[in-house]
Amino acid sequence: MFVSENLSINEKGHLTIGKIDTIELAKDFGTPLYVMDEALIKKTCKNFKDSIDRYYDGKGLVCYASKAFSCLYMCRLMSLEGMGLDVVSIGELYTAMKVGYDAEKIIFHGNNKTDEELEYAIESKVGRIAVDNIYELERLDRIARDKDISIGIMLRIKPGIDAHTHEFIRTGQIDSKFGFALETGEAFEAVTKAIECKNIELKGLHCHIGSQIFDVKPFELAASVMMDFIAKIKNELNYEIDELNLGGGFGIKYVENDKPSPLDTYMEVISKVIKTKCNELNIKQPFIIIEPGRSIAAPAGITLYTVGGIKDIPNIRTYVSVDGGMNDNPRYALYQSKYDVVVANKAGVDKTKKVTIAGKCCESGDLIGEDMEIQDVEVGDTIAVLATGAYNYSMSSNYNRIAKPAVVFVNENRAHVVVKRETLDDIIRNDIDV
Ligand SMILES: *Cc1c(COP(=O)(O)O)cnc(C)c1O
Repeated sequence: MFVSENLSINEKGHLTIGKIDTIELAKDFGTPLYVMDEALIKKTCKNFKDSIDRYYDGKGLVCYASKAFSCLYMCRLMSLEGMGLDVVSIGELYTAMKVGYDAEKIIFHGNNKTDEELEYAIESKVGRIAVDNIYELERLDRIARDKDISIGIMLRIKPGIDAHTHEFIRTGQIDSKFGFALETGEAFEAVTKAIECKNIELKGLHCHIGSQIFDVKPFELAASVMMDFIAKIKNELNYEIDELNLGGGFGIKYVENDKPSPLDTYMEVISKVIKTKCNELNIKQPFIIIEPGRSIAAPAGITLYTVGGIKDIPNIRTYVSVDGGMNDNPRYALYQSKYDVVVANKAGVDKTKKVTIAGKCCESGDLIGEDMEIQDVEVGDTIAVLATGAYNYSMSSNYNRIAKPAVVFVNENRAHVVVKRETLDDIIRNDIDV
């Protein structure tokens, strides 16, 4: 009935998340409010881990892409779940190290890592640095020689797969700022060079073909292309690649029409391709890494808002203004992303209205969505926007000097704050007067 399985309706007709009444949450913690369901996060992690056990004899690691949603509590949770972790900045890495993350399980990504970031990653002993370009490879080699250490890397490859997703989140094809292109020979050159670097240990290859991908076909294709490349490296350079990282991008259900594949079918399909290719090409089975971000965080989260005003413009549209907006969820402004909404205090009632939900920023584009189907909404109602667990809090901003909402986790009938609501003093904390 709802896009995420952890949502339901209680006897009061209120929306619940992980069995907890969202109206109580709004009352106790205020709005706007991010709410995340810990049980669903754990369940999804287990699903991914089990799929590697089932289809690939456990020879792999699931690395949560922390850019989707990161804070100390989330990193600790991922660590306790035995997950690996992807980070793309010193800030994400710092957050993980603060909870004592096993650095061997961390992969450091990014297309323009600064010296400070590389030094911190090396000091922290992250297991793998995903090298994006030749300058980075040279820089790492220099740092490793100076320190007389060995650095484990993966090379980010553009396998040339078009993943049929929104253009802004397509990263596997040749016209992308990420990684080395396969078609032009650039990737092969990078591999050759990495093998020659004495202080660099080339552990594996990485690709990430896009995000919010429903179909398993592009993943199958990417795995196949990468396996051919691994065979070429073995045959021409006499070097065996140990690890293959196929990235994330597994789609989730935002609205009723979204039809993502069940999460464990990705590993089923990928494993089949890899095993077949290994037999055909006479190469050993690589250790597999996958990097889900959205699929772990998004379905577990909702955002609660209070309706402050309604403008009915006859024959045009009805604007419903909420106490948040592009500050806490910039995804409609960025990608016209679609969401499902519910009046949380009328969740059991049929949806009879179509409205545009607007935020409170000084931007006409500050919308949560247009033509959204919703119950008969009134001022003072609590609106829940569903599946906002990924790329909402992590993309939030202080535009218009608006404080960021709190993040609350619910688990086994308990709700607790994991990120405090920002205060007015937080808004001016870095300002220097005179
Ligand atoms: C963003 C990203 C991911 C996660 O993508 P999702 O769509 O959130 O699963 C994984 N790996 C890399 C390298 C990424 O950039």
